[in-house]
Amino acid sequence: MSTFPLPFIPTETWHKRPGGPGTHFGAPRNYTDQKTGKNAVLIHGACDLVAPVNTPIYAIEDGYIIRGPYEFLGTCSKEHPKVTYAIDVQHRSFITRYGEISPRLPTGVQARKTVKQGQVIAYVGDQCGNTMLHLELFEDRDRTDEYLSNEYNYSDYYFVPPADYQRRNDLLDPTDYLDRWEQDLRMRLTVERAEKFNPLLENGGPEFQDVLKKQYRILHGSGSFQPRTNADGPSFTD
Ligand SMILES: [Zn+2]
Repeated sequence: MSTFPLPFIPTETWHKRPGGPGTHFGAPRNYTDQKTGKNAVLIHGACDLVAPVNTPIYAIEDGYIIRGPYEFLGTCSKEHPKVTYAIDVQHRSFITRYGEISPRLPTGVQARKTVKQGQVIAYVGDQCGNTMLHLELFEDRDRTDEYLSNEYNYSDYYFVPPADYQRRNDLLDPTDYLDRWEQDLRMRLTVERAEKFNPLLENGGPEFQDVLKKQYRILHGSGSFQPRTNADGPSFTD
């Protein structure tokens, strides 16, 4: 079983839902071509796991860091430019892009180093209020020499017209994988919670409300999220 990449389950779902914020795989993204200035609507190639800035991110499996951290997404306005980063990791079952992370990585986590499943390998980056882990999965773990997106229309990349980049054609929809890992995390949190808080629950009283609040924080973190139609903002690597 792989590890869910966050310490809690985001309150904002990564599933498609009517009127949702577009965190799901396949969500439409407003896009402006960097060279021509032309506008278009592209398709989101990841699931966004909404979480506060600096939330630790866990390696989903044992792995090897192929590259990064590299600049991934610039957002906000000219007055308030902010940039998030990404790392590409070769795991047992996938190549994974952990995107929209902070440039600061834990000590010892760097390109061409191995990581252990469940190890903290990054933190959620800062960008314009809505912050998240942008998780992309690619099926062919042996294609370590090839970038996950590039600016040329090679045949083994999806052309994303009229964008000035291409996306690798072994891209996977992470939704079902995340659902499975979520169940595993839910079970672990329930066990930890029971061990920690049961004595207080049995006593009842004013402590009870605190216990409930703490439980909620453990399960969902303390982040907030303002829905919008374009969860990532314009991007050329998204
Ligand atoms: Zn995203």
